Amino acid sequence: MTPILNVNGIEVIYNHVILVLKGVSLQVPEGAIVALLGGNGAGKTTTLRAVSNLLKGERGEVTKGSIELRGERIENLTPADLVQRGVVQVMEGRHCFAHLTIEENLLTGAYTRSSKGEIAANLEKVYAYFPRLKQRRESQAAYTSGGEQQMCAIGRALMASPSLVLLDEPSMGLAPQIVEEVFEIVKDLNTREKVTFLLAEQNTNMALKYAGYGYIMESGRIVMDGPASELATNEDVKEFYLGVG
Ligand code: ATP
Repeated sequence: MTPILNVNGIEVIYNHVILVLKGVSLQVPEGAIVALLGGNGAGKTTTLRAVSNLLKGERGEVTKGSIELRGERIENLTPADLVQRGVVQVMEGRHCFAHLTIEENLLTGAYTRSSKGEIAANLEKVYAYFPRLKQRRESQAAYTSGGEQQMCAIGRALMASPSLVLLDEPSMGLAPQIVEEVFEIVKDLNTREKVTFLLAEQNTNMALKYAGYGYIMESGRIVMDGPASELATNEDVKEFYLGVG
């Protein structure tokens, strides 16, 4: 079956000179949670930005390879076109609008949806998955916790009725219990709403617990990939990425 996302040998260069991705290939099957793992600076964010065509603002460009969504080339689509086609990125660092309330933040995610009924239904769905956001709907994002802001960022992505969510480091800066809470919701969204996730994470342990398949990146290359259960028990992965020897 054609994967929802097929990244084929992409190279990315920043500022015309710095080669950051050196031929990255990965596949995300429809309905999967796929983890993109690796340390700081390995190239995870760059890979996600290449898919959602958000490199331009960073003075980056894809100079080789191809990216296909359900078999169709998408390198020339704008980020807005991609949202229309169901590809939404949740940026690292959450990026909620600090001065807007949680509900206003969520509504900004619905800009590609014109039907009021669909927007209202999506909002109710987000609140059903994130009851904490419902409780804090009137609060300014600036005064909510890091966990609530991460949930708000994911919730905002869901407002666009996505089929593929590119989720960048959802665990960053969050307490372990909150990380678990966020991942549980990701799993639920995957199982019940059939949302596919490509998840960039430094928290290898947690990501492999929830993903079905994983890719490990180092210095702009994929150095290993396999089913999450195999990666989690692989001796090299344990030594280098799980912090246990
Ligand atoms: P992190 O978890 O720290 O975000 P990452 O695996 O997501 O790491 P990237 O952010 O993709 O890694 O960075 C990959 C490499 O590209 C790093 O060496 C980084 O310094 C470099 N890089 C990232 N953004 C730019 C940019 N706008 N201009 C130049 N180099 C960049």
